[in-house]
Amino acid sequence: MSNDIKNNDSAAPVSNFLRAIIDKDLADGTHTRPGMPSVITRFPPEPNGYLHIGHAKAICLNFGLARDYAGRCHLRFDDTNPEKEDQEYVDTIKDSVQWLGFDWNDAGGNHLYFASDYFDKFYAIAEYLITAGHAYVDSQSAEEMAANRGDFSKPGVNSPFRDRAPAESLDLFRRMKAGEFQGGEHIVRAKIDMASPNMNMRDPAIYRIRHAHHHRTGDAWCIYPMYDYAHPLEDAIENITHSICTLEFQDHRPFYDWIIERAAEGGFVSQPVPRQYEFARLNLTYVVTSKRKLRQLVEQGIVSGWDDPRMPTIVGIRRRGYTPEAIQAFCERIGVTRSDGWIDYSTLEGCLREDLDPKATRATAVLRPLKLIIDNFPENEGVENAIACSAPVHPHHPERGNREFTIGKQLWIEQEDFMETPSKGYFRLFPGNKVRLRYGYVVECTGCDKDENGNVITVHCNYFADSKSGTEGSANYKVKGNIHWVNAADALEAEVRLYDRLFTDATPDAGGKDFMALLNPNALEVVRAYVEPGVASVEPDTRLQFERHGYFVADRVDSVVGKPVFNRVTTLKDSWGK
Ligand code: ATP
Ligand code: MG
Repeated sequence: MSNDIKNNDSAAPVSNFLRAIIDKDLADGTHTRPGMPSVITRFPPEPNGYLHIGHAKAICLNFGLARDYAGRCHLRFDDTNPEKEDQEYVDTIKDSVQWLGFDWNDAGGNHLYFASDYFDKFYAIAEYLITAGHAYVDSQSAEEMAANRGDFSKPGVNSPFRDRAPAESLDLFRRMKAGEFQGGEHIVRAKIDMASPNMNMRDPAIYRIRHAHHHRTGDAWCIYPMYDYAHPLEDAIENITHSICTLEFQDHRPFYDWIIERAAEGGFVSQPVPRQYEFARLNLTYVVTSKRKLRQLVEQGIVSGWDDPRMPTIVGIRRRGYTPEAIQAFCERIGVTRSDGWIDYSTLEGCLREDLDPKATRATAVLRPLKLIIDNFPENEGVENAIACSAPVHPHHPERGNREFTIGKQLWIEQEDFMETPSKGYFRLFPGNKVRLRYGYVVECTGCDKDENGNVITVHCNYFADSKSGTEGSANYKVKGNIHWVNAADALEAEVRLYDRLFTDATPDAGGKDFMALLNPNALEVVRAYVEPGVASVEPDTRLQFERHGYFVADRVDSVVGKPVFNRVTTLKDSWGK
């Protein structure tokens, strides 16, 4: 795999080589079938974990092509591996696909499928293959089979059971099904070519014994089809036209075609048959996209769960505050190619900013609060005596109205907005300097109070009563600094969770690297913040822009109206790697 990192920030035309293939198929009538769309795709997850951002690419691709070509896309659970699968995963996968904005129902019906619904058919096709001499029961041990498989430079060796009479294989296969054998005693293999340069064609296994409970079929079966056998048949049974998968399946394509051809010869599936196409999987910098590795993070308690906002799972990025629109735009932008590479994480964040900038309500939050006292401000005992201020809900959409809040004698400002001894080019608060309190007054800093350790605990200033923003007098004050604040008397305390990348290495699992050794210990920082009073009414899942700090979402799990908890989705500008 190339280690080039692509930063597709431009909105350049996206490449998707599959469109050219489909256009040609439509022109040639390759997949024309009476009463059926000419483009039928599928998204075929195995229900053994939570979907991640890589799956989002496959979802957007398959459902997107179906939408663009007036076809349909099936959601199919590839549930042929009973030990690892569970209903919990079926439910979350359905939920994630819908959240991303796609639907497997169309006018023609409900296109939700389960491979396990085809178990009888898979079995019948295997009996046919055995009877027709295309498959046999092999009774070698797993070790013998591995040893006889050969390798890339050495052809395999035929199994001594390869020329078993079909009737004998069939009898054994039926007894396998009846539960007469232990796992590993026998296996069914396709009879192709043990000397094929393609290892996948060296008599691949198609059925194995597994005395395991299946989440849908229960204990009805103790033999289960292999993925490479079941998958092409699932596609053919469902009349899929374009079966799109990731590049690692390229070497499986000859067997994909072989099995469908045999099944068609036996009359189990009809022409025209599906065709497989491969595309490059998504690799995103600072992210691992492998269910197995993500599971490790969850099981070892590195993150709080599959939906931890640092996780690249769909449930994680959703909780983090990403929008389905941003993810769809991202998948469009990165395009579909056949060359592997890494996409820079900033491309995903860029799509999020583009989506949220025009939508998100603005608000003020002070994340690392420091008390500012306006010594010459009229005394007041709380909100009633404070002075009303307002700011636009959105700077480019005046029609969305104003946010109301107040200013008083005691405010919260950011710690970083005061320096007792300013560095060069610092225009914010320092003794003797004037700044504007955004949407409020111009103040002049007079000094600060410190604790016994020398930490600044309070900053003092005086205000100019005729300088209020939006009044005529304000024009008389020219200041370089403009800082944000909230009124200590009416601000709401909130928990804010600031996230950083989960790994310290851009390609944490490339080239056999130990991703667990590359974890960023500072990927989560929790701060107590003060937010403007209007934020009290924010419902979970609401996204806001806290001016200067970035885009935030009220956490869908922990936030409640009146007691908000915010996740920072992303900062306002790209700061990664800079
Ligand atoms: P993982 O390796 O994380 O376990 P998987 O490929 O085993 O993923 P499946 O449930 O089999 O998971 O995947 C369903 C579909 O999603 C497949 O068609 C697969 O090719 C596609 N897919 C999985 N990961 C990616 C990725 N990173 N980029 C694009 N497509 C992906
Ligand atoms: Mg898989």
